[in-house]
Amino acid sequence: MTQHHPALSAEDPELAALIAAEEQLQADTLRMIPSENYVSAAVLEATGTVLTNKYSEGYAGKRYYEGQQNIDPIETLAADRAKALFGADHANVQPYSGSPANLAVYLAFLQPGDTVLGMGLPAGGHLTHGWSVSATGKWFKAAHYGVRKDTGRIDMDEVRDLARTERPKLIICGGTAIPRTIDFAAFGEIAREVGAVLLADVAHIAGLIAGGAHPSPFPHADVVSTTTHKTLRGPRGAMLMTKEEHAKAIDRAVFPGLQGGPHNHTTAAIAVALKEAATDDFKAYARQIVTNAKALGEELAKRGFDLVSGGTDNHLLLIDLTSKDIPGKPAAKALDRAGIVVNYNTVPFDPRKPFDPSGIRIGTPSLTSRGLPASEMATVAEWIDRVVAAEKAGDEDTIAKVRAEVKALMDGYPAPGVPVA
Ligand SMILES: *Cc1c(COP(=O)(O)O)cnc(C)c1O
Repeated sequence: MTQHHPALSAEDPELAALIAAEEQLQADTLRMIPSENYVSAAVLEATGTVLTNKYSEGYAGKRYYEGQQNIDPIETLAADRAKALFGADHANVQPYSGSPANLAVYLAFLQPGDTVLGMGLPAGGHLTHGWSVSATGKWFKAAHYGVRKDTGRIDMDEVRDLARTERPKLIICGGTAIPRTIDFAAFGEIAREVGAVLLADVAHIAGLIAGGAHPSPFPHADVVSTTTHKTLRGPRGAMLMTKEEHAKAIDRAVFPGLQGGPHNHTTAAIAVALKEAATDDFKAYARQIVTNAKALGEELAKRGFDLVSGGTDNHLLLIDLTSKDIPGKPAAKALDRAGIVVNYNTVPFDPRKPFDPSGIRIGTPSLTSRGLPASEMATVAEWIDRVVAAEKAGDEDTIAKVRAEVKALMDGYPAPGVPVA
């Protein structure tokens, strides 16, 4: 610990110890929350630089503070790399995270009380897609589409019908628990028919899109929002990419509409992550995420797990545990004790409450970053199956045994950027 963060250990041993414990936890466990990842050592280094000392409200060449000799080229590099990687006309790399990025889109195109159409949270949407407890649901009128009961896939007929009856100014596609490919072209057609702006929120799948493992939202979407820290494997942050005609509106909404000074250390780390994401290695990584998720889905299905939509096209699996006779929360907590970190999640048409839902959501971005091949997915499925059974039987010994097995396997696949004792 001391050798990894010497200044921190000397000045604040209490905090240094907590960080060291987190480093060990991220090394020892099988991290399967689909929105998480391991950034590279280079990305991590960029986030811990003196760029955090600098204020730079405004945009490159048009700042409200002096001393931007290095900041302007850093931000321009990040934006140019984003445009090249995703094929966007314009990129704004300043949003602090995915939620404020989405709020900026509302600010750019809507007045309070205007209507937005997004995917419902319980079906797999995000809070910022107009859900009631979010500012986007309190200040705007929201209509929500879901998935079809028979297929578990987005109900495009419902999307079209709601678009025609509700006449939203903004339509949002994308979400947090969608295991299938999003049909951006179909959303684009519906948005054009009703004269709505289409926002593709690709927070979860940006890395897959960059790596060619999921279709691109361009040219169908007017605006694309994404976090940078999920499959894209950058620092915690976000970007908004737009067609040229919307560039000014989006930039003004982010600053001065919603934010003050950009987080320059994050911008730099985003630039590094985007450079990495443009490589052939990253393309192989993106494909391997999907290969691993499909393999894991098949192994789980073999063991009687009920996969929403029957499987996956991307990096995540949504599992309805009703068939295993255990709710999501106790299963997720038992898996956590076994060193397999997942989250409990609602499943479409869930009869249970969001705080105690029927499912879990698991994903392969992190374990793929550590180099786990598809051939290890049978082992992972077997662990999940054993832990779920052990939890039902109150068998803590098996859970402890799995934890040791997980650590033993993961020791052979060092985590990028994570220093261990
Ligand atoms: C993660 C996510 C967000 C929000 O990102 P934060 O950085 O957590 O604010 C928004 N939309 C979708 C679809 C997401 O998955």
